[in-house]
Formats: sequence, C-alpha cells, structure tokens
Amino acid sequence: MKICPRCEQGVILEKVLKFNKQHIFICDECDAIWFDMKNISPTTFIDFSTYMEGFSRTDQWSEFEEE
Ligand SMILES: [Zn+2]
Repeated sequence: MKICPRCEQGVILEKVLKFNKQHIFICDECDAIWFDMKNISPTTFIDFSTYMEGFSRTDQWSEFEEE
C-alpha cells in the first residue's frame, strides 16, 4: 500500500469514476487525487472536489465504480 505524500496518513486507492471511466488514485483521508501512479508526489495532486467541480459533479465516493 502507498501512503499519501500530501497528508502522510491516508492510503492511496485506485478507483474508476462511473461517469467518465477515468482511473484515478485517491487518498482515503484527504481526497487528494492523481492520474498517474508514477507521478504521485506532494506537488502533483489536485483535490477530488476541484476535479469534480469541473464536471459539475459532487465529490461523493459513490461516484466510483464498485470494486
Ligand atoms: Zn492524503
């Protein structure tokens, strides 16, 4: 498991968004997201809420496909 480099507490999980099938890597604590596993760093994240606002959607974890 990879620990989030932003909050240093959460675990990064791979998820797929239902509405656009985008694979993202998200911290289960602070909701920082990345799009590339190889590019996960404290300076390359964006907030899940910010990303979703761009699509006029909310930052609910129900937006992810079921495992
Ligand atoms: Zn985090």
